[in-house]
Amino acid sequence: MVERFLRYVKYDTQSAEDSTDYPSTEKQKELGKQLVKELKEMSLRDVSMDGYGYVTATLPANIERTTPTIGLIAHMDTSPEVSGRDVKPQIHENYSGNNIILPGDNTQVLRPSENPELAKKIGNGIITSDGTTLLGADDKAGVAEIVGAVHYLTNNPEVEHGIIKIAFTPDEEVGKGVDHFDVKKFGAQYAYTLDGETVGEVENETFSADSVQLTFRGVPFHPGYALNHLVNSIKIASEFVEKLPKGRDSPETTEKTEGYVHPYVIQGGVESTLIKFIIRDFEDDGLRKREETLRAMAEETVRSYPKSNFTLKTEQSYRNMRHVLDKYPQVVEKAMVAVKMAGLQPKLHSIRGGTDGARLCYMGLPTPNLATGGHNFHSKLEWISIQDMKKATEIIVNLVKLWSKATE
Ligand SMILES: [Zn+2]
Repeated sequence: MVERFLRYVKYDTQSAEDSTDYPSTEKQKELGKQLVKELKEMSLRDVSMDGYGYVTATLPANIERTTPTIGLIAHMDTSPEVSGRDVKPQIHENYSGNNIILPGDNTQVLRPSENPELAKKIGNGIITSDGTTLLGADDKAGVAEIVGAVHYLTNNPEVEHGIIKIAFTPDEEVGKGVDHFDVKKFGAQYAYTLDGETVGEVENETFSADSVQLTFRGVPFHPGYALNHLVNSIKIASEFVEKLPKGRDSPETTEKTEGYVHPYVIQGGVESTLIKFIIRDFEDDGLRKREETLRAMAEETVRSYPKSNFTLKTEQSYRNMRHVLDKYPQVVEKAMVAVKMAGLQPKLHSIRGGTDGARLCYMGLPTPNLATGGHNFHSKLEWISIQDMKKATEIIVNLVKLWSKATE
């Protein structure tokens, strides 16, 4: 499994933010082709990659009784934020607990003092990049662990399992991982994404997320003769931004289960100024209130500019997956038991973001997220422990065993 991981990270599968193609970069399909080849070699059924770059396969059941079909999903692409080209994975055997200076750029230093999880990994094998690229454990660790678990199952036919469906997806990092994913064709009743960090964590909750576009309109006029005519939308927008909360309700001042309102683009001129926001909350109600607050603040702002007005447009991004998962408690429960069977303390965790699973939940496929063991995603200091990767694989096998005894 580790050997596989080291091979997968060498494929440059970086996705691209502003591409109009799907997948956003053609090179992701190179890893897809390799995965198709490996899954075929393991005698899986229906192994294919479609035109969108989705790799899917079936491990047929080895039992007579009917059990739910379970999906295992990981994404093949890496973040557009850091280069994923010419990744040179480094294995630091028997980790001593000291700082790890990455050999390709000695300014890149992994310090246990800044990485509490790393401090716990003394004696482990730690894999990093050479410091000039990301590693790509996000999410090739998830891919390698799923392939590793399937490989184990095909080599140990005495381990009972129902039908297992596998999917490797492109473009997760640009928020489009399941845009063309055919849930019905995939055929799983429940699924798990392997895309989290600390092994033992089960992620059953994401933010609920919307994007908001707020446009203020003023009245342009020749500045030389503008007395009592000109209304400058730049000034209205500035006044509005000044009213936004600073010490609270912002990404830079919140953590854990607190939500926020985040202006991330402002552009315009005298006539109109657009402010783009993302808004986040773990409760849909909270999200609605944040939108109402923005609207009320905009109304208050334009009140002192009688000739101005504004429009506020909200678009849904994704919803907290817990609302769906709560209806199928067995899905998260089994994940917790599978972690325990591996000798770890299971922990529920909330994601301050979204996952492909969150969208799949609302497309009819309940899908919590499991940890791969990777850390410092989207950075040159990404790392993963070999022992944790083995644990993650063991947890997948445990899950498969548990589901083989389930009836619904
Ligand atoms: Zn990921």
